[in-house]
Amino acid sequence: MIVGIDLGTTNSLVGTLERGRPKLFQGSDGSPLVPSVVQFHETEGIVVGAKAKKENPEQINRTIYSAKRFMGRGLSDVREWMSLLPFDFSPSTEQMIRFQVGDKSYTPMEIGSLVLKELKSMAEKATGEKVDKAVITVPAYFNDAQRQATKFAGELAGLEVVRIVNEPTAACLAYGLDKKAFGNIAVFDLGGGTFDISILRVAEGVFEVLATNGNTALGGDDFDHAIAARLAQKIESKTGRNPATEKSSQTRLIFEAEKLKRELSEHTETIWRWKPDGSNPIEFSITRLELEDWIRPIVEKAKEPCLQCLKDAGLKPSQITDAILVGGSTRVPLVRKLVQEIFHREPICTLNPDEVVAIGAAVQANILSGQISGMLLLDVIPLSLGIETMGGVVGKIIHRNSTIPISASETFTTYVDGQTSVDIHILQGERELVKDNRSLSRFQLKGLPPLPAGIPKIEVELIIDANGILNVKATELRTSTTASICVNPSYGLTDSEVEKMLFDSFENAESDFEERFLIEARVEADSLIRATQKSLIKGKTLVEPTELLTIERAMEELQKSISGNDRKLIKEKIETLGETTKHMAELILNQAVQEALQGKKIGEPS
Ligand code: ADP
Ligand code: MG
Repeated sequence: MIVGIDLGTTNSLVGTLERGRPKLFQGSDGSPLVPSVVQFHETEGIVVGAKAKKENPEQINRTIYSAKRFMGRGLSDVREWMSLLPFDFSPSTEQMIRFQVGDKSYTPMEIGSLVLKELKSMAEKATGEKVDKAVITVPAYFNDAQRQATKFAGELAGLEVVRIVNEPTAACLAYGLDKKAFGNIAVFDLGGGTFDISILRVAEGVFEVLATNGNTALGGDDFDHAIAARLAQKIESKTGRNPATEKSSQTRLIFEAEKLKRELSEHTETIWRWKPDGSNPIEFSITRLELEDWIRPIVEKAKEPCLQCLKDAGLKPSQITDAILVGGSTRVPLVRKLVQEIFHREPICTLNPDEVVAIGAAVQANILSGQISGMLLLDVIPLSLGIETMGGVVGKIIHRNSTIPISASETFTTYVDGQTSVDIHILQGERELVKDNRSLSRFQLKGLPPLPAGIPKIEVELIIDANGILNVKATELRTSTTASICVNPSYGLTDSEVEKMLFDSFENAESDFEERFLIEARVEADSLIRATQKSLIKGKTLVEPTELLTIERAMEELQKSISGNDRKLIKEKIETLGETTKHMAELILNQAVQEALQGKKIGEPS
């Protein structure tokens, strides 16, 4: 059996299909939703899920939640969140983030694996079978490092991760939208702490992510905080004491705010009760309309990313066939109204929004175990991938938005005579120059035969598998020397970085190209000068002294132009040098032909 898992920021679920029907396994509290919370309790040991989430003020800095936000990211990527969370981080200088609990520290992958272990044991208890294979979902924008980290967390939990699937794709699968002949599907996912909008094209079982957008700091938690602040005002006006300023009641207030929020998703009005520390309970009557006023500014924040996503997908709202609601926070009626307004249609929500992703993962698991057939999943990569070439220019190999799995290769050569190794530097991003892109990894291809510059043929192949994980292989084609690497999971980009890189690439497209052409012209000039110097060794005895002087002058001028920034001038000087050496080249060639006719070998230029 392969189970499907939604490893969420706030809640995680595990399920399977039973005779074609989705079945989610339940935890000890009877709910399929397992809070993604891990507590390292001083006396009780490791506690995961609902029990760990329960108010337990004395354990607060031994309780880790939202670990998914840190998955596959570097310290510098997440500094803004660190100060907002009550637990500690290890003061380490390495790339990898670690949560500090007492004198021990844990990586986000280890926290993820503890949640996954809990899910695995729920599935095993329910079925009485051993569970060791899973499909796990991730946000569509997750980059290579974040997917690797998720896969690794699964392995740590004793699960073979047979496939990583994008969350919006899973949601479409849950609704059986793969059966549609054709459609553009918007998946609106508002969870506890993050908002993702994805637009997919579905055509006869093939899913293609056209565009994604969102906000990694927008979710139900923000509603809770806004509601708590208003409730605190109400309490203060009745009792003269503001509970938000008292440490003991702060957490409880947010907890109660969330309960009120859920209540008003169902009803248009309710009575809310609060018991101030050490005095009698008080009551308020609160309406849905009132609550909507409190949270409206937060809900509105989801609009802009949706419009941008439509734009990126090249679609008008009228071209969206269906909008799907995903994530617990889409139970809020005001959120549904917003979705309807943006996409001009009633969103689909017949499945529980907090369960659809897990159901889709279960469907995908069934496809992979061979029980459902005729479906294929296609996702896209969010940023282009390439390698560094001469002069700090990026040679793109796989372009942004290519569907995966994909492999592509380019052939490069050496620049220096007798070079026996080359550095392969893998980059991610849209800009033309290395310095403006993200460095993913470096490795060396060694053991090349020492050949003249330009002779070795080095093929660099980038392979992205169905999980979106990158492998790079470099081969010298004449000798079949190879080297390869699987990109290191300790690097990663935040979404805002991805966004910024995309934005910068549009903003700077023109100046980038100009700079790229300049660098290319310099590289061309440089190799022409080297080649001419080589030819002169033989040629200088063949040409007239005046001709030799013209050539040397043209070389000098080209050399001088390289240090300037005038691309046109460099090009001009390249042409001049080419012209002036034409005659000499002919003479060298003639001589070589004669030597060959006499049965002699053409000597290697020294
Ligand atoms: P994630 O995908 O981030 O793990 P979920 O999809 O499980 O999270 O969503 C969790 C969020 O949904 C929480 O903020 C929770 O308060 C909110 N939520 C759950 N049920 C309701 C409801 N009935 N009304 C409003 N919000 C809800
Ligand atoms: Mg989710």
